[in-house]
Amino acid sequence: MQREPQAFDRVLSSMCTTPHPVAREAAERFLATNPGDPGTYPTISDLEAEAIDLLGEVAGLDDPAGYVASGGTEANIQAVRIARERARVTTATTETPTVVMPESGHFSFQKAANVLGVDLELVPTDDDHRVDLEAIRACVDKTTAMVVGVAGTTEYGRVDPIPELGEIAQSVDALLHVDAAWGGFVLPFTDHAWHFDHAPVDTMAIDPHKMGQAAVPAGGLLVRDETLLDELAVNTPYLESTSQATLTGTRSGAGVASAVAAMTELWPDGYREQYERSQANAEWLAAELAALGYNVVEPELPLVAADIPTATFEALREAGWRISRTGSGELRVVCMPHVTRTQLESFVAALDALESE
Ligand code: PLP
Repeated sequence: MQREPQAFDRVLSSMCTTPHPVAREAAERFLATNPGDPGTYPTISDLEAEAIDLLGEVAGLDDPAGYVASGGTEANIQAVRIARERARVTTATTETPTVVMPESGHFSFQKAANVLGVDLELVPTDDDHRVDLEAIRACVDKTTAMVVGVAGTTEYGRVDPIPELGEIAQSVDALLHVDAAWGGFVLPFTDHAWHFDHAPVDTMAIDPHKMGQAAVPAGGLLVRDETLLDELAVNTPYLESTSQATLTGTRSGAGVASAVAAMTELWPDGYREQYERSQANAEWLAAELAALGYNVVEPELPLVAADIPTATFEALREAGWRISRTGSGELRVVCMPHVTRTQLESFVAALDALESE
């Protein structure tokens, strides 16, 4: 029997969304292509170069380099790998390199640290869930290979002070990586200083398959200086191309093509309109939840967290709502493009009904 994928009408927890129709169509067309083998598949390889140019525009990088990764996890792992390799050459110390990151950083960095044999040092966040700069200053030293700033945290949608983190990273000759995997396609329409033009950012994760409305898998790794990719490159004897900087070998041409299609269609006006809709939805939901008496974390980006009782959370999940919790137990709702006001109204009605029982 043919199975149908999960319907999106009650999905409030995902950082991914339904692809834009042009992205879906492009993904289907390029399903059988592999940008990992540019000698054999030159068209998708050209499209990948276009994807990087477009990502560069979004992220304020004039002469961008990078590649379309499988997602934010791969982009983060590869950024840590770049920093580790660079530190091997630039630092005199033989101690294990460290990555210094706010505790709000994504768990993919734990995978990176584990796979790459670096130490991950987690630094506390302040009362508003942004990194504590003093704690970062106290943590960095000559072993620091990379400082991570998050531009749109997974749990609360917060943006770390990226320019200040850049100064701290430079003070110990470490790289600054910005994880904008989720926030990268909404932040251009806000006042936050988050991208290459605002700060000495060396590497960035920015995912078309999240707010960028491309099909999965389409993550983005951007580097300020193309030579940073050399830290990743291995020779590729049986391919017509000479080297490969990606982590995976065979890759999805569907992801690459759909990323180009989505960005061509939506950057910048379509993304701006989507940001405005999503942000308005998040603010509406936050106000409704506050009116019902819950403690709400103000949505700086389109992501709402609120303290609701565990039993209510579980009853909502039981009723089919796909919702999730922060590490400290708050409900989190991500106002992705597929999340409509009508959907949020039924969610609030369901929550209210449960609480009045
Ligand atoms: N970075 C951030 C800030 C995220 O929110 C996520 C996922 O939600 C990731 C990285 C990992 O991305 P992926 O699941 O595409 O590997």
